[in-house]
Amino acid sequence: MRAGGDSAPAPRLACSCGAWRARLDPAALRGGTRLICHCADCRAAERHLGQPDPGGAGVDLFQTTPDMLTIEAGQLGLFRLRPNGLFRWHAACCGAPVGNTLKTPKLPFVALCVARFDDSAALGPVQVRGFVPRRSGTPVHEGAGRMVLGIATRALAAHLSGRCRQTPFFDIETGAPSAPAQVLDKASRAALG
Ligand SMILES: [Zn+2]
Ligand SMILES: [Zn+2]
Repeated sequence: MRAGGDSAPAPRLACSCGAWRARLDPAALRGGTRLICHCADCRAAERHLGQPDPGGAGVDLFQTTPDMLTIEAGQLGLFRLRPNGLFRWHAACCGAPVGNTLKTPKLPFVALCVARFDDSAALGPVQVRGFVPRRSGTPVHEGAGRMVLGIATRALAAHLSGRCRQTPFFDIETGAPSAPAQVLDKASRAALG
């Protein structure tokens, strides 16, 4: 059993200034995957949004489906590190990173920034480490099979239940994101390391 469950209180999220607030459905605690991502893009996104440089520590994320997130106050902003990059969402007020999604709502997926949660322990232990650097050769993923299985299982359940149509990140009818995407130019991306 994971931490939490349907009877657990809803985990709460907030931006740095408090104008953006959201809650997570406690049902997300059972099926979600917590991971640390060490990829260069996640680090660059943190720096772009004015957060402390995570350096080699990576970025703590909680993967679930977008229907589990209910925004209670504030607006989202959106940027991409390159034209085909992930959708990276932040609080429009103060720029606090919220998470990332794919560029389409068709695969219901979101990786939420654990830093936004008031109680990260409720999200359970880290199960996956992505893009872990090695002294030589390409980075490795630890627990990637579990991560992929989690994404597929959650997406299937969301489709079967119809919950995949509920998302704060997109207009489900048109597929348009709920905020205009700012795309960084090459020089801006390069400057982020
Ligand atoms: Zn990453
Ligand atoms: Zn804010």
